[in-house]
Amino acid sequence: MPSTLLALNWKMNKTPTEARSWAEELKEKYAPAEGVELAVMAPALALSTLAANLPAGVAFGGQDVSAHEAGAYTGEISAAMLKDVGAAYVVVGHSERREYHGETDAVVAAKAKQAQANGLVPIVCVGEKLEVRERGEHVSSTLAQLRGSLADVGEDVVVAYEPVWAIGTGKTATADDAEEMGAAIRGLLAEQYGEKAADIRVLYGGSVKPDNIAEICGKPNVDGALVGGASLKVPDVLGMNDAL
Ligand code: PEP
Repeated sequence: MPSTLLALNWKMNKTPTEARSWAEELKEKYAPAEGVELAVMAPALALSTLAANLPAGVAFGGQDVSAHEAGAYTGEISAAMLKDVGAAYVVVGHSERREYHGETDAVVAAKAKQAQANGLVPIVCVGEKLEVRERGEHVSSTLAQLRGSLADVGEDVVVAYEPVWAIGTGKTATADDAEEMGAAIRGLLAEQYGEKAADIRVLYGGSVKPDNIAEICGKPNVDGALVGGASLKVPDVLGMNDAL
């Protein structure tokens, strides 16, 4: 059984100074929960500060990575750069990147491969928009997206199911919705990775908070959460960590 992953996504929030205060507050109050891994996905500029100030055992990572190794890609951050500051993870294919930066499944897969080639574990995000769910096509659509996003990607990966209509909206999928998709995703992972699929963590993301995390992550095919809004305040993070 893999450990439960509580992955935090700060999005474009927190300066390095604010990140330092957050990490110091966490260090003061954090007690590891058994079987739970905590990881903070922060803006690239805050990562060195996190490396120096997070409590022992808390991992961190980036929110995006270049699909290229190095070179003339102005403004991009490479996987080697993330690895060099101590990152363990990187989020790829978040719906905000797909929506605002036109990232396709092929680009997401290229980024995931680049991450793995540099020793990072990619957290590959997938999930349907509201109109797709209303048509009842959420499972087939999300699995098609996942198939494309995992093309030629190795098994050292985390999958995050994040229905777009639940991200930052306060609308949470029910625990049964999360489990339905978690089980479908697990089936696809088993086709692609065989027995190794059992060790791949499948997260749910979308308005997760201290008061709903336990029910959602209590489902057999939900191995943790990717949390945006509720990751910004340390008391909420401690509440979620303790609830798992
Ligand atoms: C996210 O950013 O991945 C996310 C799930 O955000 P929120 O928890 O705010 O819905």
